[in-house]
Amino acid sequence: MTMSLAASDTDGQTLAAEDRQSAGTLAVVIPVLNEAAGIDALLARLRPALESSGLAWSIIFVDDGSTDGTLIKLRQLNANDDRIGAIALSRNFGKEIAVAAGLKYARADAVVIMDSDLQHPPETIPAFIEKWREGHDVVYGQRIDRSADSAWRREGARAFYRVFHILSGTELQQNSCDFRLLSRRAVSAINRIGERVRYNNGLFAWIGYPAVGVPFEFPPRPSGEGSRWLPLKLAKLAFDGLASFSTVPLRLSSVTGVFVSLVAFVYMIWIIAKTLLFGDEVPGYPTLLTAVLFFAGVQLIFLGVIGEYLGRVYEEVKARPLFLVREELGVSAEQPTATEATPR
Ligand code: UDP
Ligand code: MG
Repeated sequence: MTMSLAASDTDGQTLAAEDRQSAGTLAVVIPVLNEAAGIDALLARLRPALESSGLAWSIIFVDDGSTDGTLIKLRQLNANDDRIGAIALSRNFGKEIAVAAGLKYARADAVVIMDSDLQHPPETIPAFIEKWREGHDVVYGQRIDRSADSAWRREGARAFYRVFHILSGTELQQNSCDFRLLSRRAVSAINRIGERVRYNNGLFAWIGYPAVGVPFEFPPRPSGEGSRWLPLKLAKLAFDGLASFSTVPLRLSSVTGVFVSLVAFVYMIWIIAKTLLFGDEVPGYPTLLTAVLFFAGVQLIFLGVIGEYLGRVYEEVKARPLFLVREELGVSAEQPTATEATPR
């Protein structure tokens, strides 16, 4: 069956129609940002893995505003093999949204999401498919060991999972990464989530369908290139994950609040000490002043917190489209809206 599918390149429709019906279809969604150089290496390993799955497969690259000729590369690939499709977003929207865009375009019975830099080994996909066949809706890659990461990053991730669970009530899948397989109904569920501020890891856990982890070796990024997730960016993702997105001026009020409170607190200690040692010049004045300053600071903090949430409400209320597509290669937008309207 595998072989016949492998050979069914163009006339797959008729050739293995029956097999495909029982086996289902598989789409792989891959967000790419300036990965022109790496795509060939990825496909060299991804194609055989997909062929061996025995499913009729397709690949959807999501060009997330690349500036390095990734799109030209994708056009060539699509021209040579119509199973390789792509959409190009109008600009860089960030990986989370690129993935959401890919999921809207994917129509297969099962959809794999993976990175393009081979940190998510394509050879793991057959194991994902097996778990999916067993009836799991979400199959996620679990990194066997995170020793490739720095200690603080590992500990940071662990602490974040714990805090996330406590604050949100949603338990993130331990050690999961964005290497996943989603069943059709899981994809439909994700597609119905219209949130602008997307924390995919949280959403995949939130939908609640049966999920299972598949351990895999996590290789270091090739060619000594660092991750694009610098600590600050990671911290931002964590914050977005917990509450959502940054509305900087509003957040500034929180920071100011903390600062003012601290200064007021130190000042208060100083005034108290001075009053105790040297007496009270104007009765009541020190207490009054420190109380005013301290509570002004506290109020700013909470105003800032409210602002954080208001900013988020504002983003959602504007209801801007999640992403804009500049070019579609071998995939079309018609289906996604239909899928959206009638999930499943
Ligand atoms: N990526 C993207 N948009 C971005 C950043 C990254 O589509 O704004 C893609 C990138 O091309 C890669 C994947 O997301 O396929 C993961 O990126 P990276 O390897 O830099 O991140 P990490 O491995 O640290 O998660
Ligand atoms: Mg990577």
